[in-house]
Amino acid sequence: MGASTAYYLAQRGAGRVLLLEREKFLGMGSTGRNAGGVRYQFSTPVNVRLSLFSLDVISHFDELFDISAEYRPIGYLFLLTSLDDVTTFKANVEMQHALGAPWVRYLERAEIARLVPLVNLDGVLGGTFCPRDGLADPNSVTQGFAQAARVRGAQIETETNVMGIKTDGARVAAVVTNQGEVATHVVVNCAGPWAASIGALAGVEIPIVPVRRQFFITDAVAEMPRDHPMTIEFSTSLYFHPEGPGVLVGMSNADERPGDTYALDEEFHLQTLERALYRLPLLEHARVARQMAGLYEVTPDAHPILAQARALRGFYIAAGFSGHGFQHAPATGKVMSEIILDGASQTIDVSMLDLERFAEGRMIREVNVV
Ligand SMILES: Cc1cc2nc3c(=O)[nH]c(=O)nc-3n(C[C@H](O)[C@H](O)[C@H](O)COP(=O)(O)OP(=O)(O)OC[C@H]3O[C@@H](n4cnc5c(N)ncnc54)[C@H](O)[C@@H]3O)c2cc1C
Repeated sequence: MGASTAYYLAQRGAGRVLLLEREKFLGMGSTGRNAGGVRYQFSTPVNVRLSLFSLDVISHFDELFDISAEYRPIGYLFLLTSLDDVTTFKANVEMQHALGAPWVRYLERAEIARLVPLVNLDGVLGGTFCPRDGLADPNSVTQGFAQAARVRGAQIETETNVMGIKTDGARVAAVVTNQGEVATHVVVNCAGPWAASIGALAGVEIPIVPVRRQFFITDAVAEMPRDHPMTIEFSTSLYFHPEGPGVLVGMSNADERPGDTYALDEEFHLQTLERALYRLPLLEHARVARQMAGLYEVTPDAHPILAQARALRGFYIAAGFSGHGFQHAPATGKVMSEIILDGASQTIDVSMLDLERFAEGRMIREVNVV
C-alpha cells in the first residue's frame, strides 16, 4: 500500500513524497507472507470496483512498470455446500456482472467435476468460477511500484522506524523517526497489521487488529496441473492452489485471537491438513515442505479504511484489508492520491470506507472473505 500510494502521488507531481519502512526491505510485512490470490469475486460493490481497477493494472503490469506481476489467470473456484451460500453467491454473480465483471459464472456440480476432477465434491451443491481470477506475485508488484515511484522523484527510506507523530492543534505537523524528524502536513498510515499502533502515535483510534493466518506448501505434486484453479471450500475457508511444483494450502482459524505473532500453531496445521486431504485426496502422497504464518489486518467489517481521519487533518489511513489487500494495492494508491490531492476519489467512490463508520454504526457487510 505504501509503495503504490507513493507511486500514484509522485505520478501526480504531489511534491516531496517520502516512503518510510522500518524493515531493511519493502514487503516484509503481510505483503511478503501472503498467498498471492487476485480475484473479481467479492460480495460488495466497492470491493468488486477495487478489483476491476487493480486487476487491470496487475494484468498489464509489465507494460506499465517494466516488470512482470507474474499474473496467472488460473481462476478462482468457490465450492458451496449450503443452499444459503448458493443463493448468496448467485446474487453476487449478478452484482459482479452488473459492475463489469462478466466472466464470473455459477457452475452446477457436474461442471465443477469436469473442471476439477481431482477434488472430492462430497456435499458440494454448486460453485462460482471466474477464469480471470488467479495469482500474482506480491514482491514483483511492490518492487514495480517502488521503482516507478523513485523514478518519479519519491524517496524511499528503509530501516526507518516511525516512533511519533506531532500535531499542531487538529493538524499533522511532523513525523518522528529513529533517523530524525520530518516536518509534514500529510501522513498516510499504510502500516497494515500495525496500523492501529501508528494511529495511537497520532491519538487516532483505529480498529485494526493483527490476526495470524497459516498456510503450508508441499513438495512437488506431479498429478496437480499447474493451471488448476485456486479452489476454496467456502464453509471452512480451506483453499489450495498450485505453487511452484507443489500445492499451497491454507485455512482460516475462526477461533484465532488477535495477536502479533508468526509462531506456528501445530494443532491448527493438523486440522488444515486433515481438511485438505478430504477435499484433495492426492495430497496423501505429498510432503509438507514449508509452513508459514502471516498477519491479516482485520477491521470489524472486513473492509479497509481509505480516508482522512475526521479528528486529525492530514492523517490519512490506507489499511485494514482484512486478508485480501495485496490485490487491491493498485486501486488503493490511486484512490488515496485522489483523496489527498483532490479531496475525494473520482476513480472509485470509497466514501463509505471512512474511519468513522465503526463508531457511527455504518459498517459494511461482506460475506465473501476467507
Ligand atoms: C496468510 C495470508 C494470506 C493472504 N493471502 C492473500 C491473497 O491471496 N490475496 C491478497 O490480495 N491478499 C492476501 N493477504 C492479505 C495481504 O497480504 C495484505 O492485505 C496486504 O499485504 C496488506 O498490505 P499493506 O501494505 O497494508 O501491509 P504490509 O505489507 O504489512 O505493510 C505494512 C508495512 O508497514 C511497516 N511498518 C509497520 N510499522 C512501522 C513503523 N512504526 N515504522 C515504519 N514502518 C512500519 C511494516 O514493516 C510493513 O512493511 C494474505 C495475508 C496473509 C497473512
